[in-house]
Amino acid sequence: MVRIARFSYGEAASANFAFGAIDGDQIAVIDGHPFGDVSLTGTRLPLSGVRLLPPILPSKIVAIGKNYADHAREMGGEPPAEPVLFLKPSTSVIGPGGSIVYPSLSQQVDFEGELAVVIGRLCRDVPVDRATDVVLGYTCANDVTARDLQRSDGQWSRAKGFDTFCPLGPWIDTEVDPSDLAITTTVNGETKQDARTSLLLHDVGELIAFASAVMTLLPGDVILTGTPAGVGPVVAGDEVSVTIEGIGTLTNTVASR
Ligand code: MG
Repeated sequence: MVRIARFSYGEAASANFAFGAIDGDQIAVIDGHPFGDVSLTGTRLPLSGVRLLPPILPSKIVAIGKNYADHAREMGGEPPAEPVLFLKPSTSVIGPGGSIVYPSLSQQVDFEGELAVVIGRLCRDVPVDRATDVVLGYTCANDVTARDLQRSDGQWSRAKGFDTFCPLGPWIDTEVDPSDLAITTTVNGETKQDARTSLLLHDVGELIAFASAVMTLLPGDVILTGTPAGVGPVVAGDEVSVTIEGIGTLTNTVASR
């Protein structure tokens, strides 16, 4: 089971929601949730006939600021010695194809393409060398940010917390090695960010250890690993895509309120 998606199928009024394992142009329905010992129901559906949803609904999103040196510098500072943690609310999550809604409170909304880690089991105080044991897999994320509010507020809850400000997807890849993957972000097809995850100042293992020393991580929780240089604004009508080698492409459009 390499790629796990969450999806709905059927008519809206009677739609079914499920996790599934992607197998070519089909999706095999998972019985219940994708954690622990996973079993399939035996039902298979054509991938083209389902609607992909956010691949996970996390209890919390733990995000990391300034975890690529070139991004820390473009924000006007040196990289911090330790990871900078902040939280995005669960209600900020949308899925592939969903709309990022431009809030009326902001005049500058930026994209931030990021590798996302999906936690697979309850854990705390995870040592770095055991970190991969608690990972379900990896997906693409966009840490959408109201940059003007981030500057004016001095902390980031409002700037990073609007509904629709955490696109995730298109699915969770459970086998990819996250240590050196190409990560790119495009806006309307034009490349804006182009980096590799090997440039992370604190790698996935260190981030899991750091975050789990503070708070218990639950199955489905998401860690956003930080964005590389090249962040910039979007406007209503833009199409923004985050592509990570070995995982896939997460595409969302920006909608006016
Ligand atoms: Mg970010």
